Amino acid sequence: MARPEPRILTVIDTFRVTPNMHRVTLGGAGFTGFPKHQAGGYVKIMPEGPDDEKRIVRTYTIRNQTETGIDVDFALHGSDDESGPATNWAISAKVGDQIKVGGPGAAKPLPDGSGPFLLVGDMTALPAISVNLESLPDSATGDAILLIRDVNDKQEIAKPAGMNIDWIVDADLGANPLLLLDAARKIRAVDKLTYAWVACEFEAMKLLRQFLRVEQNLGPDRLYISSYWKRGLVEDEHKQAKRADAETDA
Ligand SMILES: Cc1cc2nc3c(=O)[nH]c(=O)nc-3n(C[C@H](O)[C@H](O)[C@H](O)COP(=O)(O)OP(=O)(O)OC[C@H]3O[C@@H](n4cnc5c(N)ncnc54)[C@H](O)[C@@H]3O)c2cc1C
Repeated sequence: MARPEPRILTVIDTFRVTPNMHRVTLGGAGFTGFPKHQAGGYVKIMPEGPDDEKRIVRTYTIRNQTETGIDVDFALHGSDDESGPATNWAISAKVGDQIKVGGPGAAKPLPDGSGPFLLVGDMTALPAISVNLESLPDSATGDAILLIRDVNDKQEIAKPAGMNIDWIVDADLGANPLLLLDAARKIRAVDKLTYAWVACEFEAMKLLRQFLRVEQNLGPDRLYISSYWKRGLVEDEHKQAKRADAETDA
């Protein structure tokens, strides 16, 4: 099926959710006809760059969707001079600004059932993991491991009582790829998992993939694992690294 043409959306709200998470709500006339129920899916944010020839395209999760718009949560990169064009656009966006947006692309939901589930991610996956936690049945059990920059980046997430959240704090997000793996090794009964869902920095993803796929023997029917970014690379370079990794990992 042909990809839908990007639409021009308008900033209808923008605020800091926590110290290192910035929300932009996009709607306006261009939102008319946007497919319904896309929370957890992704959009392509296309801020204008200095070079008209080279379009900037960055991938972001739809955190919430209402009749009038979508919320997109941008994880800040640390100091302002480390930010990329999408993050810079978001933090300086004002109500009424417009942005080209592609998509939506499909969400990666958890399978039906009560688990036990394991969800692992850093701040870039907090929007997707939040949507997945919110959609679980009350009977669900398991663990979510979430890496944040600051203790105040913890968010209230509606979740079943049997889902435990382990917040890990590291100001230098992605610098310590072992953090998520070490936390995953410590969960109760990792050998009883029915499904694991993982999205984070590339090197951390590779360590978790080795643990879950090879050591715990979770096949593709019981594991979603993806890198959302790679430290030191912009998104286009990260995509190339992902492609090279997929070829050697097959
Ligand atoms: C399916 C999918 C869904 C995603 N959803 C979200 C989401 O909802 N929210 C979100 O924040 N991100 C999300 N991401 C990750 C996001 O696309 C990348 O972080 C992207 O690189 C940010 O673009 P940028 O223009 O700000 O930085 P880029 O120009 O791509 O990168 C500039 C520099 O910043 C580094 N960098 C990139 N991201 C981070 C980070 N988070 N912290 C520290 N340094 C970083 C890069 O390695 C590079 O050195 C998602 C990615 C995928 C594949």
